[in-house]
Amino acid sequence: MAIKKKQDFEGERALAEVLFNSIGDGAVTTDEYGRITRINPAAQAIIGYSEKEAIGQWLPRIFEAYDDNNEPISLIERPVTRAFVSGNVISERTIYKHKSGKLVPIAMTISPIMVKNVPIGCIEIFRDITQEYEVDKMKSDFISLASHQLRTPLSAIKTYAHMLLDGFMGQLTKPQIKSLKTIVSASNRMNETISTLLNITRIESGSVVVTKKPVSVASVIEEVVNEHRLTANDKNISCRIDRPKDSIKIISDGVVLKEIFSNLVSNAIKYTPVGGNVTIALKTTGSLVVVSIKDTGVGIPEESRDNVFTKFFRADNVIRQETSGIGLGLYLVKGLINELGGDVWFDSKVNEGSIFYVSLPLLPHTINTHTVKK
Ligand code: ADP
Repeated sequence: MAIKKKQDFEGERALAEVLFNSIGDGAVTTDEYGRITRINPAAQAIIGYSEKEAIGQWLPRIFEAYDDNNEPISLIERPVTRAFVSGNVISERTIYKHKSGKLVPIAMTISPIMVKNVPIGCIEIFRDITQEYEVDKMKSDFISLASHQLRTPLSAIKTYAHMLLDGFMGQLTKPQIKSLKTIVSASNRMNETISTLLNITRIESGSVVVTKKPVSVASVIEEVVNEHRLTANDKNISCRIDRPKDSIKIISDGVVLKEIFSNLVSNAIKYTPVGGNVTIALKTTGSLVVVSIKDTGVGIPEESRDNVFTKFFRADNVIRQETSGIGLGLYLVKGLINELGGDVWFDSKVNEGSIFYVSLPLLPHTINTHTVKK
């Protein structure tokens, strides 16, 4: 084997240095303690610190990271820490603070440098995404504004249609009642679509506000089922809630939970033919509360399994039956469940039915209402 000369090593080193410095994106490397060993000119420009100021410094000190709410990200949650701990490559967006104090949104990939399965440092490649961030924000602001503007006239339509239906403006004929019911149900659907769009905008812009406090899961489910009772009755679908006697309280956001269950219950009713059954069951397993929403509906084809939680996806069997929908409900459900630290999954068989499961972290203990009353 040819032995490399000292000059060869130096030549390769110089070449590596030139390559590193020519990368158009920011690049920074650290040793095993997270101290900066190299920083290229693009990284210096993004972060505002010179090579002299950065080398030897602890990366999280020079690269201060913030979340979408401009809150500092704790060390344990920093991608650099997670990359070290897991040994995995991590790609995500974050916000860095420029030396001047200005916050800069960036997209980064951080990879541990492994030698014989031991991390000896890491390399981070990142770029300034201020422009993409602003375009995304403009898009979200536009959807948000358009949705709010649609909501106001829609409320008027709904209110007056309900007043007419309730006989406040005189007796109605059967065809008039039928037409008004169609107006009410169409405006309800439109209202749901607007809510979904607004919620998705919030999730994608990281501005979902989760207000956690003790909430009874069964009460939320009862409310949701009551709101869908009319639609279920119209299709002669029985809706049953199977819940334990004791109240299961979790620390969560009731409004977000309602949105999640409302989507799942409404799907169960929508995709179940006339005369079917929908059963919502509630139980605790270990440190989780698990809610299942079971229907005797059209089911989800095997080949669609991996796609149902993706944006705008609708399976072939439901498109063929021309049921209404835009394929955003489950995408929203998944996003909201993530916000609450839970999980969602399903089992299904075509023409037999589906069962969707939602798991949420429980309180340290379940509150037994009977015990509390004593
Ligand atoms: P939408 O109902 O508006 O189409 P969703 O995101 O709620 O959108 O659902 C995505 C797709 O998943 C649906 O179009 C349908 O193909 C499938 N799906 C969801 N829930 C059920 C269900 N309970 N039974 C059968 N298919 C379902």
